[in-house]
Parts: sequence; C-alpha cells; structure tokens
Amino acid sequence: QAKRAGRHEVVIHRPGMLDRRADDAALGQDLEAAVRSGQLRVLYQPMIELATGRPVGAEALVRWHHPVRGVVAPLDFIPVAEQTGAITDVGLYVLEQACREARNWPGEPYVSVNLAARQLQDPALVPAVLAVLDRTGLVPGRLVLEITESAVVDDRVAIPAIEELRRHGVRFAIDDFGTGYSSLQYLSRLPADTLKIDRSFVAELDNDGKDSAITEAIVRLADILDLSTVAEGIETAEQEAELRRLGCHTGQGFLYARPLPPDDVRQFFAERRVTTFSSRG
Ligand code: C2E
Ligand code: MG
Ligand code: MG
Ligand code: MG
Repeated sequence: QAKRAGRHEVVIHRPGMLDRRADDAALGQDLEAAVRSGQLRVLYQPMIELATGRPVGAEALVRWHHPVRGVVAPLDFIPVAEQTGAITDVGLYVLEQACREARNWPGEPYVSVNLAARQLQDPALVPAVLAVLDRTGLVPGRLVLEITESAVVDDRVAIPAIEELRRHGVRFAIDDFGTGYSSLQYLSRLPADTLKIDRSFVAELDNDGKDSAITEAIVRLADILDLSTVAEGIETAEQEAELRRLGCHTGQGFLYARPLPPDDVRQFFAERRVTTFSSRG
C-alpha cells in the first residue's frame, strides 16, 4: 500500500508515526507543560558586522528538549504553538530568557528575538514586552524583534504595537525578506529598522555573482528606505565576500558560528570586540 501511495502519503503514514494531525495535537498538549517544566532551551547565533568582522549581536533560537522525542526543532513546534495559542507563553519565555542572558554579554551587543504572527495580533504584547525589559533590566535599545512580512495579518493592530515599542527604543527587523507575498508598497508602510535577507538568496551567491542581482536589489532597496541589512545563512567565504561587496552590513551563518548555548555565546562576545549600534557610523 505504501508503495503505491504518493510521496505526500508516504511521509504522513511513516511507520510508527501517528497521523500528523493527532501528532500535532499531542505536541500541542505537551508544549503547555514544556514551558512550565523548563524543557525549552534558547540558543544564540552571533551576528557579525561584515566590514570589520566584529560581532554586533545574536539571534535567540528556541529548541525543545522533549523527554521522549529528543530535541524538537522550532519549525516542528512553533506552528503548532501558534495554532493552540501556546505561542504566547513560549514567546514570552524565550523573550525573557534572551533579555536576561543579553544583560550579561560583554560589550553590550543586541539580542534579536523572533516574534510569531499571532503574538503581533495580541493586544497584551506591548505591555508584556515592556514588563520583560523592566524585570530583566535590559536597555530597550539592545532588543531587536524579528517579524516576517506575513506576520502583520492585521495592520490596525500590528503597526500601532510596533510603533509604540519603537518609541521605547526597541528595534524591528523584517525576517526572511523576499520569501513572503508582500508588495513593495507594503514594505514602505512597515515601521522597521532592518531587513534580513533570506538564506535562499544568500545560497545563490556562490556562482561568481551571476545570481547576486536580487540580493543587490534588496540591499539597494534597504538603503533607499534607510534600513540596515542582515544576510542570513552565510556558509562560505565567497558568499561573505560578495555580500560585503554589495554593501550588506551584517551577516549571520555557520561560517561564523552555529547557534550557541548561553555560556558559549557569552564567551564568544568576551573574546572579541563588539561593535554597538550607537558606535556604528
Ligand atoms: P529564522 O528566524 O530565519 O532563523 C534562522 C534559521 O537559520 C535558524 O534555524 C538557524 O539555525 C538557521 N541557520 C543559521 N545559519 C545558518 C547557515 O549558515 N546555514 C543553514 N543551513 N542554516 C542556518 P532554526 O534555529 O532551526 O529556526 C528556524 C526558524 O524557527 C527560525 O527561522 C524562526 O522562524 C523560527 N524560530 C526559532 N526560534 C523561534 C522563537 O523563539 N520564536 C518564534 N516565533 N520562532 C522561532
Ligand atoms: Mg529570525
Ligand atoms: Mg530569518
Ligand atoms: Mg530564514
């Protein structure tokens, strides 16, 4: 039976695996307990100023250490958490951990935290973020929140929330830029500070610049809109060189560091001179 099934079905009915929907429901239930019992861990991937090679910040990336399943990747449980509503607790947990860690980082780099679409629609988001900053003592200017283009489901809720947090000094980055459905007109309405160029564009930079046209266009567009640029998923020196040539400010990827546990990222910043946002030209 499995032989005749299409690729899609084979994946769904993988032996020993529950039906995808039932499985997601089970994950969703486990997740509530996971937050409370400390099964979520946050890793931090350093972000590098391309012109100098110095670190400027790090992105917080969550992992779920499930007692039975082992380490579950965020792409396997964040969408489930969004559906069940557990994302509110998960998101605030990650934010609080991240701000607490960043408080201890030498050289005062920033910490960049992903926000899910559903969080941006939640009217309780702004007071919750401000409360976390207050509790942890992190200066708002050292927090960046990453949103995707598609996360702004309802402008009337999301944009005022973004604007209010920006008035407090929190910065916003548009994550995975270029992969969403949004238009350029939409981009000009979004109050943001940074564009993160999706890894899929960076991956194409290897073959001597031929495929760099889109990346170059994104960097130029960002310049015109007065946004800084971060390239995601830099794995090779060739990609780095091309991005530097195109004028991209910041990079992140396995070439520099994988997502690191808290002690290791603190060590990373301790061993290098950090460029802070305010000291940047
Ligand atoms: P993202 O925000 O675009 O994060 C970048 C992803 O690229 C991370 O995957 C990171 O480990 C991976 N990456 C970094 N450098 C390289 C590289 O050089 N090569 C390759 N192949 N990959 C690289 P990760 O940690 O699995 O996270 C996947 C996605 O899950 C994130 O994409 C983000 O959308 C989401 N996510 C992670 N943590 C959170 C969180 O706390 N909250 C929310 N809402 N979403 C999160
Ligand atoms: Mg991100
Ligand atoms: Mg990204
Ligand atoms: Mg991405």
